[in-house]
Amino acid sequence: MTEKPFPPSFSSDPVEALLDEVATEPRPERIVEGNLRGQVAIVTGGSSGIGRAVALELAGCGVDIAFCYLDGPPEADAEAEAVARELKQLEVRVYKRGCDVRDSDDVNAFVRETLDALGRIHILVNNAGIGRDRALWRMTDEQWQAVLRTNLDGAFHFTRAVAPHMRAQEYGKIVNITSVHGIRSEFGIANYAASKAGLIGLTRSAAVELGPRNINVNAVAPGYIRTTRLTEGVPSEILDRARERSALGRLGDPQDVAGTVVFLCSEAARHITGVVIPVDGGYLL
Ligand code: NDP
Repeated sequence: MTEKPFPPSFSSDPVEALLDEVATEPRPERIVEGNLRGQVAIVTGGSSGIGRAVALELAGCGVDIAFCYLDGPPEADAEAEAVARELKQLEVRVYKRGCDVRDSDDVNAFVRETLDALGRIHILVNNAGIGRDRALWRMTDEQWQAVLRTNLDGAFHFTRAVAPHMRAQEYGKIVNITSVHGIRSEFGIANYAASKAGLIGLTRSAAVELGPRNINVNAVAPGYIRTTRLTEGVPSEILDRARERSALGRLGDPQDVAGTVVFLCSEAARHITGVVIPVDGGYLL
């Protein structure tokens, strides 16, 4: 047996072959406003807070928007109608209706209707989410299931429903809105923390399964974000503590999350998949 030289001497051929290969790869487009123009996005829970900001930011880049929300009280429809008006002012096409992400038949129908109305689906943002906080020894089955079914089952239903279309067109961007609480927990949010940690697992699995068809699946983990409901629902001491814990010493805005979602949907992020990007001002540090 002949001894191998050390250090190994590489022939230049494989290196040159690799360089040739890289040179012939199509270059990612520069990040410009028009980068996403003409694409179609579904945003779940697009009628308020972070979902509304994501829908508006994408629409600002020329993306047509389909969004759903949980209908029921008249205020929910009025809120959704107001967002649809804002989106149309950005001169994009809009499709919206109440669709319960917990109900897979409803989700499948929503995806079919989006294709009928807008033609294609390039982007899915799984944003719809709720919390039902309580110490776990007092948590009811209803509280546990409501959160798991909305935050985790809902994202699974939508991902499964768009997957055949995205696989067939060999293109897609899926962004899941998880939370810092899927990474580090607090008291009273066992259901929420489990749902958001589960969403991170779903993100990674979907990235593995859909990657071969050029579909990127990533997650954004917001820290405390000033949305109307958060500001109304969370005691001020908790918000103060969150502010103090953050390296940047402030709460985030829905716009902060929306900007990261748009980045993940852009060609600038074409080689990023299966990751979780905290948008938390350094809360997790
Ligand atoms: P909001 O309560 O403002 O918005 C939630 C949206 O989801 C609404 O449009 C709501 O519709 C919709 N929704 C709720 N349940 C369903 C359902 N079953 N089917 C369809 N739509 C539904 O929340 P935020 O903007 O604050 O949060 C958005 C996401 O960001 C959530 O996933 C949340 O967990 C996550 N997040 C938020 C943080 C924050 O600080 N705000 C921090 C970390 C993560 P409707 O209004 O009709 O009920």
